[in-house]
Amino acid sequence: MKEKSKKNNPKESTYERSLKHPDHMDFVKKSQESPIEAYKKIILNWDSYRRIVGYSIRYANEDMKPNELKEVYGILVGLIENETIIIKDAIPMVSGDRAGVEYENKQYGNMEQIDTSIYEKAIKDKESDFVIGWWHTHPRFGFFFSPVDTLTQLGYQDSNPHAIGLIFDYSKKNNNSLGIAAIRLKNPKRGTFSDFGKIRMTYEPKKSSILKKANKLITEIKKDLQIIEENITHIHDIIYRKSIFQLHEKYGLLSERVSEYLLISESEEIEQNIYIWKEEDKEDTLPQFRENLEKEIKKQEKFLKKLLKEDNKDKFEKSKVKIIKKLKLKLENPKKLVKSIEEIYDNKKKKLLKYYDYFDTNERTLFERIEDFFLQYNEILNNLDSITDFNL
Ligand SMILES: [Zn+2]
Repeated sequence: MKEKSKKNNPKESTYERSLKHPDHMDFVKKSQESPIEAYKKIILNWDSYRRIVGYSIRYANEDMKPNELKEVYGILVGLIENETIIIKDAIPMVSGDRAGVEYENKQYGNMEQIDTSIYEKAIKDKESDFVIGWWHTHPRFGFFFSPVDTLTQLGYQDSNPHAIGLIFDYSKKNNNSLGIAAIRLKNPKRGTFSDFGKIRMTYEPKKSSILKKANKLITEIKKDLQIIEENITHIHDIIYRKSIFQLHEKYGLLSERVSEYLLISESEEIEQNIYIWKEEDKEDTLPQFRENLEKEIKKQEKFLKKLLKEDNKDKFEKSKVKIIKKLKLKLENPKKLVKSIEEIYDNKKKKLLKYYDYFDTNERTLFERIEDFFLQYNEILNNLDSITDFNL
């Protein structure tokens, strides 16, 4: 739960507030001693680091003003081998509000709120891999666990004593440092009163090569940042929320249940809709356009069959040509419309493809939804197309 004191300026971050009361930061100072029982060998590879850096740099970098910085959160996937924790992937999950505000007030330990299917998918093919911890960013405020971070970490460490939390701070990244720290609670049995400590990591490949690659990646993302954000916004606001919605309202083909799952109304967020799918008892109805079309096809099919039965070959052939023409015409507009929307989408997506690894759950889900829509919509269109050939 969010704790909000009316006396505090809501625009002030937890961190900013703590600066006025240095004693509030005492818990940071006393944290750096005595070892913990869990495995202390951690390997972080380039693939994980690049996703952390790539995603977080979109929300916080040195070109931004302090009030523009946003924190981000993700999960770590990996395995434990020979008492060593190997982090193999860092999946971006969600961005918060302004740095220090949302993040340090909101606990992200509750995985049900996040699209669990994403990480299930991520680890599906690698049976030994599992969620080994989490990561988030502290843009310009360094490596420590806030009280809420401690709570989040408890969620991970309770079920897995080896679980770790990584913190990335771009401002700590320099020629000698990757700007990242691995932190773990020293005595989780004490709950939120537990101390935390940093654990040294080793890198694969070595730090200097990771730094080199990371600098290249950061330059690239910063250069394309506007293109990335503009195209994502266009795909979400125009293609998903407008074009596809209008197509569905005008030439609806997907059943109500499928469309309710794939197309979310204005007020709802994608992630909240994920479980609607499981409401089995919901009645599944067809949209007006498809219902009318199917009724018409059935009616005409019956008529043609009747002519066949009566052996009225001449009238059958003539009617068939006419009916086919009439029905295909009805399919023409939705076909044209979906094709033009798809073209715009593909075009936008092409520009984003190389940054896909640095997209979060909502963004990845958005692409999946849109592509699912096209796939199912086109399948039904093709189906209707072949039915209206009337191969009787
Ligand atoms: Zn934090």
